[in-house]
Amino acid sequence: MNAPDTPRTIRIHPDDNVAVVVNDGGLPAGTALPGGPTLVQTVPQGHKVALADLPAGTVVRRYNVVIGHTAVDIPAGGWVNEQRLVMPEARSLQGLPAPQPPADLPPLEGHSFQGYRNADGSVGTRNLLAVTTTVQCVAGVLEFAVERIKKDLLPHYPNVDGVVGLTHSYGCGVAIDAPDAIIPIRTVRNLASNPNFGGEVMVLSLGCEKLQPERLLPPGSIPISDQRQGPDVVVLQDEKHVGFMSMIDSILTQAKTHLERLNRRQRTTCPVSELVVGVQCGGSDAFSGVTANPAVGFATDLLVRAGATVMFSENTEVRDAVDQLTRRAATQAVADAIVRELGWYDAYLARGQADRSANTTPGNKKGGLSNIAEKAMGSIVKSGNGPIHGVIGPGEKVNRKGLIFAATPASDFICGTLQLAAGMTLHVFTTGRGTPYGLAECPVIKVATRNDLARRWHDLMDINAGRIASGEATIDELGWELFHRMLAVASGEKTWAEKWGLHNDLVLFNPAPIT
Ligand code: CA
Repeated sequence: MNAPDTPRTIRIHPDDNVAVVVNDGGLPAGTALPGGPTLVQTVPQGHKVALADLPAGTVVRRYNVVIGHTAVDIPAGGWVNEQRLVMPEARSLQGLPAPQPPADLPPLEGHSFQGYRNADGSVGTRNLLAVTTTVQCVAGVLEFAVERIKKDLLPHYPNVDGVVGLTHSYGCGVAIDAPDAIIPIRTVRNLASNPNFGGEVMVLSLGCEKLQPERLLPPGSIPISDQRQGPDVVVLQDEKHVGFMSMIDSILTQAKTHLERLNRRQRTTCPVSELVVGVQCGGSDAFSGVTANPAVGFATDLLVRAGATVMFSENTEVRDAVDQLTRRAATQAVADAIVRELGWYDAYLARGQADRSANTTPGNKKGGLSNIAEKAMGSIVKSGNGPIHGVIGPGEKVNRKGLIFAATPASDFICGTLQLAAGMTLHVFTTGRGTPYGLAECPVIKVATRNDLARRWHDLMDINAGRIASGEATIDELGWELFHRMLAVASGEKTWAEKWGLHNDLVLFNPAPIT
């Protein structure tokens, strides 16, 4: 390990003309970089230093990709930050490279996890009772009922991990026949059949809402444990209910039936190919693309080699790398689907008079990410190096194994919600600035990009990828560590967010009008 005061920078590619400062607290003016220039000003941790004189208008390369051009003259040893860098135009979606996919990665055998196998063939990593809702109006009643279930029923079903109310803001006051309304509707529908819920579908409805239970869950639309019965539905406006406790008793009576069946589920040895993993980043910094995301990318390749399903997402964070994606597409149909989804998203943003540059946050910039082009290059490495086998739209269920582009907004909770609807049973989340993000519906393994964050948030971060920057571990070593941790967590080991009970709300993506 290097002494803490040794100046350390990372240049990703030999052709890059900037490097990123690694040292905690940054480096002061006058610091001589080993084999590089002397800093002409203080450069904060995670920020870029010019390795050569960069007169105004010079192309700036990181990851051997153009992340912009200089707005002013920056001397060698100067600080390249967002105010001194002009963002490049978005790559046109016309004339993109044809697929030239890398060869499929060699199979990886001999790894397994302990999962819950469902009647429809899917496999869960947790054993949860989930209650689906048709409309936000019922959320308060459900919250009350969930507390009662936890207190009065769960102690009798020790094999059940918990109970989750799938509440959301949709269901009424919306233009439900608008074409884009299919996105929130299919999201709520597919959430109900996440493999962690064992096919036990309970629905809580108000009665007068636009999203009626039969519209949400038409017969045969999702696998349900008891197909003859269909989903169990409690309707609050049903005339049989006299008084609030009548509603609560109905919910608890139904919950008992489902808890009894869930309690009989047993973990069995399952191949890694049964895992459905979603990868995401949030609160990113310049280290995200150097430490945590490459380690996740390495683990992604291991999972895909073992036959698993791995989803990467976050439209605005892959948009600037669209040419890399079409080149990596396994088939022309996959490339076309990538362009279709990103084109749709461009139009969605344009409708709101925004573009991909709306993505970056003040924290991203403070962490050294100057613009979305730079952020995207660091984000996309989570997808590893293999061919892209499939594409799904927002809220759709994933229906094949391999590496999948699940087109979602980059918003952490919306992306997480859509990946859950796609069937995600394990979530990997990298963060540099730090976020206590968690989901009640599936475990979230959080990976810190920096030693300083891992040290301060020692009981929130599950893996410290900062060791890559400090030279204590390689990307491969971290990738293997993450892979083994994923199998342990999939088998029941609790993440920090689970130990503390931290979880964010489900947040739907509704691009359709509200009425
Ligand atoms: Ca995100």
